[in-house]
This record gives sequence, C-alpha cells and structure tokens, in this order.
Amino acid sequence: VLAFVQTPRLIRAPALLSLSIAMASFLVSGCDVGGSATTSRDGRMPVVATTTQIADFVREVGGERVDVHQILQPNSDPHSYEPRPSDASSLAGAQVVFRSGGELDEWLDDLIVAAGGDAPTVELIEHVRTRDDGAEDDADPHWWQDPRNAVAAVGAIQAALVDADPAGRDGYAANAGSYAERLRALDRNVAKCVEEIPPARRKLVTTHDSLGYYADRYGIEIVGALIQSRSTAAQPSAGDIQELVGQIREQRVKAIFPESSINPKLERAMARETGATVGRALWADTLGTANSDGATYIESIQSNTDAIVDGLSGGVQRCRPRA
Ligand SMILES: [Zn+2]
Repeated sequence: VLAFVQTPRLIRAPALLSLSIAMASFLVSGCDVGGSATTSRDGRMPVVATTTQIADFVREVGGERVDVHQILQPNSDPHSYEPRPSDASSLAGAQVVFRSGGELDEWLDDLIVAAGGDAPTVELIEHVRTRDDGAEDDADPHWWQDPRNAVAAVGAIQAALVDADPAGRDGYAANAGSYAERLRALDRNVAKCVEEIPPARRKLVTTHDSLGYYADRYGIEIVGALIQSRSTAAQPSAGDIQELVGQIREQRVKAIFPESSINPKLERAMARETGATVGRALWADTLGTANSDGATYIESIQSNTDAIVDGLSGGVQRCRPRA
C-alpha cells in the first residue's frame, strides 16, 4: 500500500560528461546566446544565483542594476538538478555567483569548472547561523527557512554587490535595508501565528528533513520526515515508514505536510493509516511560479505558516503573517 517511487539521485560523472559535450557544441557553434559579456545588453550587471530563494533575495537587493540568471526554475528540486548549457554560459559571463551552499547545490562545482569563469562566488550558508541536526557531517543546508538567516544572507548579498559594482552602493543599501525590514516583520508575525497553535499540537511531519530551521525558530517539534534525509533523493524503507506511523499515532500528530514539488502519494497513504489529515503542500526547497502562493520567498513563508496553523489546529485557525 505504501509503495513509493522516487527518482534516483543523478550520478554526477555522467552529468558532467553530458554537460561537457553540450559545452563543446556550444563553443563550436560560436553563437552568442547572451550573458557572456561583462554587462548585459541593457547595461545591467550579470550575476548568477543557484536556487529560487536566493535568486529572489538577489533580485530584491540588486533592483534594476542587476540582471539575475537564476539556475533553478520554479518547482524544481535542487537536490537532483542537472545543469544545462545556458547555465555554463551565464556563469562564464557573471560578475558574481551566489550559491546557497552545502550539499544542496554542490553540483555548481562541476558547472564552474566546465564554464571556466572566474567571478567571485559567495556561499551564503557561510554567512548565516547554521544548525547541526546530528544526522550528517555538515550543517543542515536548508538555512533560509529561518527568516533571520534570510536577513543575514541579504547583508552578505549587499556587500558582494557593492564590491562588484561600487557605483551602486547607495541603491543596494536602500534596497537591502527595506527588504530586511520586511523580513524582520515577517519573522515577528510568523512567531505570533505559531503561538496560536496549542503547544501540544506543535508537531510537524514533512516529506524530507527540510523545515528544521523553521521548527527551531518557532518552537515546533519535528516528529519525523517520510524521507529521513536532508536530500529528497533518498528512499524510505518499509521499516522507516512503520516507525513513523507509530510515532504519528503515539504523538497524535494532527497533519502530515507534503511538499509542493513532490508527489503526495506517500503522505496520503500514511494519513489513511494513522488518522492524521494531509495538510496543504509546503514550499520546502523551491519557490513556485509567478501565479502560485509561493512565488517569492516572503510569500512562501506566509503560505507555509498559514498551512501549518490550519493543519495543526484541525482547521480551526488560520493565520497569514504580514511582512
Ligand atoms: Zn532539501
């Protein structure tokens, strides 16, 4: 009943090989697809950002002076991304490269080697407060789920943009300042929303271990994840699933939350088995398209909070934090 099909993790060597072939044909054809000059055609500074969330941060801080090439598109899983030739050409022309850091976008290493660019790379995880969940060697890479870390990342982005483009200093400072204010308001208001949930019900079950920072920040207990790994590429065993079913029953978990970019089949099966409900899908590792309720980082945290309050209160409460 609890059958589950997960796309296997992409093996890195063949991915790099296919990228090299694609790059070779790109170079041979010699056509200009843009992004390979030091400024964009419209005079803006070209930069690269790996994930949907950090591209959103860079657009907020960079404003009109910066042209952001976002590698990951909405609703795509960063843990199993296969780079495209256009990513390599953008990297070759970038003035700054922003990456999320950790296991999440380590595929960028191969891409930078293939592209041969020499732009400074800012690894944002090095500028935020990380949590060690004891599960693996490195820190949990899902740092942006704590809005205070988003504020810290915005500061690092501002500094890197000023280094690359000193003439834009005042504009970057103004943009970063007003965006950080919104993030701080978001953080305060999420805390107020979560306080509405009775403490005994603040228990979260998600698809993979992606909301640890959010849970730590707002006093929610992580009971477990269907995929007991920080990567969506892992597969749960029958034993893992039975253990989690036991914990959900024992701790009377109200709702299980799927992720927006992953098929919720297993969550539905587990809900049937335990009597929990299936909550609305959360924005975990990716933002959504422009017409979704997770189009921006701020919207994703607002929607997640509303979904969590709704699910854990058994549909009694709603709370969309303002930013
Ligand atoms: Zn993840």
